[in-house]
Order: sequence, then structure tokens, then C-alpha cells
Amino acid sequence: MGRALRILALGLGGTLLVLLLIAAAFLVEAHIEIGRVTPPLPEWTALAGELAVAEGPARIAYVETASQSGEGPATLGHVAFLLEWDDGRSFLVDAGMEREQAIAFGRMTELAFGSDPIDVHGSVAEQLGAATRRIRGVAFTHLHNDHTGGLPGLCAALGRPLPLFQTPWQAERGNFTTSFSAPHLDAADCVRRQRLSGGPLYPVPGFPGLLVVAGAGHTPGSTLFFARVRGRTWVLAGDVSNFMANLRENRPKPLVYSLFIVPEARGRLEEVRLWLRDLDARPDVTVLVSHDLDAIEASGLPAATLHALSSLPRTPRRFP
Ligand SMILES: [Zn+2]
Repeated sequence: MGRALRILALGLGGTLLVLLLIAAAFLVEAHIEIGRVTPPLPEWTALAGELAVAEGPARIAYVETASQSGEGPATLGHVAFLLEWDDGRSFLVDAGMEREQAIAFGRMTELAFGSDPIDVHGSVAEQLGAATRRIRGVAFTHLHNDHTGGLPGLCAALGRPLPLFQTPWQAERGNFTTSFSAPHLDAADCVRRQRLSGGPLYPVPGFPGLLVVAGAGHTPGSTLFFARVRGRTWVLAGDVSNFMANLRENRPKPLVYSLFIVPEARGRLEEVRLWLRDLDARPDVTVLVSHDLDAIEASGLPAATLHALSSLPRTPRRFP
């Protein structure tokens, strides 16, 4: 009996060791991969010149799909950003989460970090209602499933093809953390992937005044968005930091997070953080990170509710 137990213990120990080695191999590969992605960051003068177009976006707003307090210095939001042009077309950066996904995500965060219960506000499609149909393009700050979750619902609401614009980095490179968004992309049958060309600035065809920069650091395909609306340049910086205070004070994320949970390139993230901190210090620039809901609200960005949208043009012109 004693021998049988020893064999069982050895077997279990061996299996655990193999599993740990497999996990370590995934992590090491992801760290090596992300360390190699260092696309150039543009100068402000180049950005400002490209943003200065007459027919740029007229409005910017955010859609809050869920929020949760209790972890970190600010309320954690799961938002999408909506840009609108005067002719009625709009563009979505990130898609937040659907209700069921947000509930599951909230439970996980409660268990892992002792956060408060999540407040679920509804998907982008639910909250925008009929205005969803004005969305003519979508893009993601990165392919993590808390940013891509709303995509299948968006397709169901649109019922027509929707271009997804990606830098070559986001289109070609990922790791095991971005693979969790694959079910959303696969289920989103309306999506037509369009690879952006350019670099370090990538204009988005059909959406004048919207510029994309490859950021990397958090995931190999992490992307930054720049749009000038009524003289103010908005920078949608994704998960470069989770809180604006950390970006402004150049504080990194916890080491355990960057090493073991989401394998990040910490040196690259600091480079992007410092670049964004300098941009944010300009009087006409506001940098927003995806999850800092308090900073998003404090920035003056309006929430895209059905009520607020009802004042926008109801009969948009035909799109090309
Ligand atoms: Zn995120």
C-alpha cells in the first residue's frame, strides 16, 4: 500500500512538473516574442500635421459596458470609444464586453483581487440602439477578450460587413493571451480585416483625422489611436497603463502581472508611457487609458447614451 501511494505521489508530482514546464515554455516564448516588437514612435510635429484635416471627426464619446471598483486607485471600466463624423458615419475603438461575459469576468476579478461585484451596463449594441448602424469601421487597442467581447453582438446588430482595421503588427503577431479573443473574432462573421499601411503613422482609409500608431509592450499588436476633435487631440492608449496616475508618474504595473499573468515588455512600456506622458502634458492633448473610468469621466468625454445620441443627425448621407 505504501509503495502504491509513493508511485501515485511520484506520478502526480511528475504530471505537475510537466504542466509547470509547459506553462513556463509558453511564458518564455511570449516574453522573447514581445521583446522583439519595437515599432518606431512618431514625433509630435508629424502627428499634429497629419491630424490637422478639415474633415476630421466631429464628436468623440465612450460607451461603458461594465465597471468594477475595489482593485487599484480608480474604478475599472470596460469601455468602447465612439468617433463620429459630420456626415453621420462613426468608428468604434474596442468593443467592451457583452453582459454574460462581463458577469463572468467580474466574478473572476472578485475572487482573484477581492474587487466589489461588477456593474454591468450592457453591450455596445444594446446601448447605442439604432445608432449602432452608423458604425462603419472598428479597431482594437489590442486583442484581449475584455476589449473584443462586444464584436459578435455588433455583427448581429449590423447585419452587414464591417471593416476591422489592423496594423501589420496586430494582424500578424499575437501570443497565448491574445488567443483568448479568437472566439470573438471567429464568431463575428461581419468582420472584414483590412491591414493598414504606413508607419510609424497609419491613416485609416475612409476616416480622415484618425491616426493609428503601433505601440506594442502590452501585447505584440497593441495599438494607439489619435483623433483631433474640435481642437483637442484625444489619444486612446489601451492598456499601456491601467491607471492614468501611473502613466503620469511613470509607475510600472506590478512585476508579477508583467511576468506571469500578461507577459509584457516592461522596457517598451516605459518608453511608450514616457512618450504619452509628454504628449498628455500638452495643453491641447488628452491621453486616456482603457480601464481608468475615473480619468475618462474627469476628461470631460461624454458618455454615448441613447439620449445623447438622439440629438445627432438622423438621416446620414450615403456612404461610399
Ligand atoms: Zn484590458
